[in-house]
Amino acid sequence: MTDRERFLEKLNAAGLNVYVSSVSESGGTFTAAVRKGLEKYLAAAGNGKDLFEGTEEDGFRICPLTHGNAAALRQLFPFTAPQSHRGHRFTMGFGDRLGLATAGHIRAIRGTDIFPVFAQQSIRELNLTHRTFADVIDAATFLVFQEGYRGGFGADGDHLKTKEEIRYALSSGCSMITLDCSEHIDQQAALLPQEKIDARYRALPEEIRTHYEKTYLGRELPVIGRLAEDELRRIVVVFYRGVLHAADCFRYIDRIREADVDLELSIDETLTITTPAEHFVIGNEMALAGIRIDSCAPHFSGYFEKGIEYIGCVDDFARDFEVHEKIAEHFGYKLSLHSGSDKFSVFSTVGRVTKGNVHVKTAGTSWLEAMRVVAEKEPALYRRAHRFAIEHRPEAEKYYHVTTKASEIPNIDLESDVFLPEYLNLAPSRQTMHIAYGVLLSEDWFRKAFFRAMAEHEEEYYAGLERHLGRHIRLLLAEA
Ligand SMILES: [Zn+2]
Repeated sequence: MTDRERFLEKLNAAGLNVYVSSVSESGGTFTAAVRKGLEKYLAAAGNGKDLFEGTEEDGFRICPLTHGNAAALRQLFPFTAPQSHRGHRFTMGFGDRLGLATAGHIRAIRGTDIFPVFAQQSIRELNLTHRTFADVIDAATFLVFQEGYRGGFGADGDHLKTKEEIRYALSSGCSMITLDCSEHIDQQAALLPQEKIDARYRALPEEIRTHYEKTYLGRELPVIGRLAEDELRRIVVVFYRGVLHAADCFRYIDRIREADVDLELSIDETLTITTPAEHFVIGNEMALAGIRIDSCAPHFSGYFEKGIEYIGCVDDFARDFEVHEKIAEHFGYKLSLHSGSDKFSVFSTVGRVTKGNVHVKTAGTSWLEAMRVVAEKEPALYRRAHRFAIEHRPEAEKYYHVTTKASEIPNIDLESDVFLPEYLNLAPSRQTMHIAYGVLLSEDWFRKAFFRAMAEHEEEYYAGLERHLGRHIRLLLAEA
């Protein structure tokens, strides 16, 4: 009998369910993800088991899923720790607001060259779900281990706005920082008439004006050609503070980072669509400042609303996206597509134009797949959550912009249980549930029943994620 077989025999004898693909060995220490009833643990035997905190059983130690034990796992099995995705062409962010989805995400990318970012949360998401970056990364670590997935994954501190947030994300182990400088972009100015822009421009420090005029006027620029003076003034008035803030933050990351960190600049959460000229100037300013970014998320044409199909003209999107891709190629980074969940009509274009060198982020769709499991398996809980989500939609709308209306949702009291999953296909109810994760997860009655249901039906959840995100991936790769 091998040591591995002896280890498994002890676990079985103790009445534990073993996640077979998790069983791993490092320097004579055997570790496995196990389940006792609905509760998950790690089990460890051998010299290294002292790294884990837990209680002694016959021939092994049983260890709760604590932060300390996640850290021990990362130390013993480095494939469970986030790492930079630099050098990988197709990278994809899979936000998991519940800490339950990574196993399904792993199954969705199996057999592809996609490098995944399994831990990806914004400060807004952390606040709404009452989690920390450490919680998010630990959840990914445990599920990567549970699945025995050894392909590597990243952790993205998404939409970070300040140095404090950056420090927090990096000290928690994030391997990617998405910097959002929207608070330093003068979004209202983008809509001003030219004479007001000109007045503001004249009030700017002379060295700023001289720099931009010398760099961009009176010459043929790559990809975008000549830039008119009016247009440059508008760009400078709207963006120059954002550019300074971005350069400052990226230099800060470089000073405090301990390992490679992937850098993304996001300007997608702005009021206006990013023009090619704006994108070029921002990319060029980063290059002039000596900052190498890995990806950039412009605000593309059309509407990328949460959890529903792309709204807009697909051909317009393709033309716009092609120019942004040329700019990204010129500066040597890739485009990043945010709110990428469920945008099936543009995925093949995204793959084709970028030749599969792109970053795509999804997040809320995995929460909706969880609610699909609830709709199928726990109709009473689903009905209560559905009514609650409608009632509390105004609160949720403070955080997310959506255009469907709650009044368009068919009355759930008139529908039988078999129809419930359909609510997650209809745009108005889908969006209502999409943005309700924060209000629902703050409710005790919901949390308890929900997490118990998810523990009971985890295989159904993983299968649903594999199917739904697999559909995203097949389209993204179709013409890449
Ligand atoms: Zn975004």
